Amino acid sequence: MSVAGHVSRERLWERHMLLARHGATPADGVNRQALSAEEIAARRELIEWSQPLRLAPSTDAVGNFFLRMEGRDKEAAPVLTGSHLDSQPTGGKFDGVYGVLAALEAVQAMRDSGHTPRRPIEIVAWMNEEGSRFAPGMMGSAAFAGAAPLAGMLPVRDANGVSVEQGLAQLKAAFPSLPERELGRPVAAYVEAHIEQGPVLEKESFSVGVVTGIQGKRTYRVAVAGEEAHAGTSQRRDRKDALLAATAMIQALARALHDEQDIVKFTVGRLDVKPNAPSVVAGQAVFSVDLRHPDEVTLRALGDRVPEICRANAGRCAVKLEELVTAWPLEFPASMRDEIRRAATRLGLRTMDLPSAAGHDARYLHYVCPSGMIFVPCKDGISHNEAESATPEDLYDGARVLAETLVALADR
Ligand SMILES: [Zn+2]
Repeated sequence: MSVAGHVSRERLWERHMLLARHGATPADGVNRQALSAEEIAARRELIEWSQPLRLAPSTDAVGNFFLRMEGRDKEAAPVLTGSHLDSQPTGGKFDGVYGVLAALEAVQAMRDSGHTPRRPIEIVAWMNEEGSRFAPGMMGSAAFAGAAPLAGMLPVRDANGVSVEQGLAQLKAAFPSLPERELGRPVAAYVEAHIEQGPVLEKESFSVGVVTGIQGKRTYRVAVAGEEAHAGTSQRRDRKDALLAATAMIQALARALHDEQDIVKFTVGRLDVKPNAPSVVAGQAVFSVDLRHPDEVTLRALGDRVPEICRANAGRCAVKLEELVTAWPLEFPASMRDEIRRAATRLGLRTMDLPSAAGHDARYLHYVCPSGMIFVPCKDGISHNEAESATPEDLYDGARVLAETLVALADR
């Protein structure tokens, strides 16, 4: 029997249900914040499951979590596979966890089949992917990839004033004997399995998606400065109404960035008004812009228009723009996509190519080693939600493709 033939649908499903106990919410969802007691309990359970498989647990300075299966060639750079264990405050049972459990299932299948790959395989759970406790997200993979220094993350505090540094100390106290590996070790390849978090695979009836890349994102903070005035006595021609100007900018942006095909994603999710009083002309309005697109040239061009559109609609107000995040779209190497597609074909599974609309840890690993992602459908595309749901069958198909892909990469 092939390695994938040893993947167990039941065990994979049961482990999702067991891990969901750590941070279970009354509405059947999961609240498991980065470095919390719940996440520590989930790591502890993973170590227990991995023991009969002779996997070596370890961590690193940013609190990433690894389970290593030794290869025939101990000196070879490992193949890395996994995702994350943290969740949104009202998250589901599958986002992130699936990538970790599918990886564990794949390694267990290798053990059961008696196949020891040439390269070591390391299962990874990246620290703080979601960014809901400590902002921004993807701290673990960013630090590992050298995209952002650890020193800048340590002082970041959660809503209760607890810092990343304190959280990491608690993690260390919970696992005092866990060896600490260096950040940014050589890696041969990275594969991440994840639920799609969108509706495409389910709608098109595919159980497995080959992710072509991750769409890019530019975010802005737009501050509009006007002048506070009496709502009853101030003359229209004298007013500098910051709220009116801000809403004109937002409407103009929405019109300019409108895309009939719905590929351009434009969102203003936040608007703060000062003094926010019913009878005072707003003196200040600050709003956010979140712009996403899978094509770099288009994202560049559209994003570059944001400042001019805002200025053109400022009226008598002053406007100040700040670009906060610039994450260009990326395309995973064709060699990795081919490897995943070939694995699926060997298993008799049809695959669909699709881009990822959401960000993932693979965004940072892409710059470390050849990286790729496998998507499985989730019900109605619902994610970051307690109602998040997936079928045992789809999770099983994705895990089998992951197992086949890992064998191919690790035997090379
Ligand atoms: Zn995720």
